[in-house]
Amino acid sequence: MTEEFAPGIYRMEIPLPRTALRTLNAYLVRAAPRNLLVDTGLNLPESRDALYAGLAELGALEGGLDIFLTHMHADHSGLAAELAARPETTVYAGAEDGAAVIRLAAEGPAFWRGVLDGMARHGCPELLMRTVATTHPGMIAGPVGDVAVDFVNEGDILRYGAASLRVLLVPGHTPGHAALFDEARGILLSGDFIFADVSTTTPYQPNMPDPLGVFLSSLDSVRACDIRLVLPGHGRIFSDARARMDALRAGRARRLEDTLRLLGDSEATAAELTPLLHRSRSGGGWESYMPSQQWFAIQDTAAFLERLEAEGRVVRAEKDGLIRFRRQCFLAACR
Ligand SMILES: [Zn+2]
Repeated sequence: MTEEFAPGIYRMEIPLPRTALRTLNAYLVRAAPRNLLVDTGLNLPESRDALYAGLAELGALEGGLDIFLTHMHADHSGLAAELAARPETTVYAGAEDGAAVIRLAAEGPAFWRGVLDGMARHGCPELLMRTVATTHPGMIAGPVGDVAVDFVNEGDILRYGAASLRVLLVPGHTPGHAALFDEARGILLSGDFIFADVSTTTPYQPNMPDPLGVFLSSLDSVRACDIRLVLPGHGRIFSDARARMDALRAGRARRLEDTLRLLGDSEATAAELTPLLHRSRSGGGWESYMPSQQWFAIQDTAAFLERLEAEGRVVRAEKDGLIRFRRQCFLAACR
C-alpha cells in the first residue's frame, strides 16, 4: 500500500523480516519521464514483493526508474543491484557508501570482515558476532551482483518532476550517508539520519574514527535548514525536525556522561560496559535483547567511548588484541 505525503512523494512500507526495526520507509518521487526511488528494502522475498507491489501501484515499473540510496545498509540497498539491472537506471549514493554498496554486492557477507575484526578488539563475544554474521538480514540480505553507482556530492541537485532535491551529506550513521532536501517545500528525506522516536545509531566503522563526533557535526550542519517535514527511513513521519535534533543531541550528551560514570575508575572494553548502560532500560534489559540488538548496542558504546577519547576524557590501552578505555587522569600520581 502506498501513501502520498506531499504532492508526488509516496511512501511504501517495506517489511524487514527478522529485524528490530520491522519496516523500511521507501519513497517514490513520482515524475515523468523518470521516477526516483529512495531506498529499496532487503534482498529478501518479503521486501521484494512489497516494493514491486508499491512500484506497480504507482505505475513506476512502466516508466523510467532511478534509485537514490541514502546509505549502504542492506535494509536500504538490498534490492539495488537487481533494480539497477533495468535499462537506463541510474543508482545514486554518497561516495563512501556508494563504493561500499559496490563492494558489498560483489563480496557478500565477507564485506563485513573489517567491522567484525574491529568489534572483536572492542571485546564483542565471538559467539554473538558469529550469530549475527550468519543470521541477521543486515549482514546476509544485501545487494548481490554488479552494480554501478553514480556518486553524489554535497549540494548536487536531482530534479524529478516538481521536486528539486538537494543532496545533503550527513555522515555518522555511515561514512557516506546522504539525505535529500526539497528546499522549496522544506521536505527532508532523511534516511537513517534522524527519526521521530528512536535515536540514530552510530555503529563502529573501521574507516571512520569517532562516528558519534561525525554525526554531531552533521546535526550542526543541517540545523540551519528550514525543514518542515521529515520523511525518515523508519518509523513515523514528523515535522518538528529542529526540536528532534536538539533532543537527540541532548540525549547523546547524557549518554556520554552515563558512559563515563559507569566506567568509573575501572578499565573496560565497549562490550563490558554495554550491559551496564542498558541494564535499567524498559522492556527487560540486556538479557532480553535479540543478538542483533546486543551487537548494535556494543557498536554504539564503542562510538561513545571514541567520542570521549576525542574529547580527551578517556584514553585507550590495547593489550592482547583488546581495546580497553579508562578515564583520563590529570593527577601527576596517575601518570
Ligand atoms: Zn542504517
